[in-house]
Amino acid sequence: MEDCIFCRIANKKIPTEIIYEDEEILVFPDIKPKAPVHLLLIPKRHIVSLQEVKPGDEKLLARMILAARKVAEKKGLALAGYRLIINNGPDAGQAVPHLHLHLLGGIKLD
Ligand code: 5GP
Ligand code: ZN
Repeated sequence: MEDCIFCRIANKKIPTEIIYEDEEILVFPDIKPKAPVHLLLIPKRHIVSLQEVKPGDEKLLARMILAARKVAEKKGLALAGYRLIINNGPDAGQAVPHLHLHLLGGIKLD
């Protein structure tokens, strides 16, 4: 997906600080952080949204959530807590049509 901003980040066409990476997942800071820690976890493969996740992608979703936990622990958030968010579709305000998990923490969240 040449015109997808998160695919371009995943393919290293746009330089971004990489917080965590494995074969399937990339984690990088949100460009407009809404908390002291605001990271985005994406599958490297282009998936438009949670709604487009297919049978067979269960492991990928589980790995994304566990990668979020690992990163949260590395950021020292395990005790204080953190929030994971997936916006799906227009009413949720999904702005980037490439599945992503927000990891927010470092402050008491509303
Ligand atoms: P959504 O509203 O789709 O759930 O969240 C998209 C998020 O991606 C927003 O929090 C926005 O700040 C972030 N974002 C949009 N474009 C870029 C970008 O080019 N680089 C990074 N690092 N984050 C982006
Ligand atoms: Zn994409």
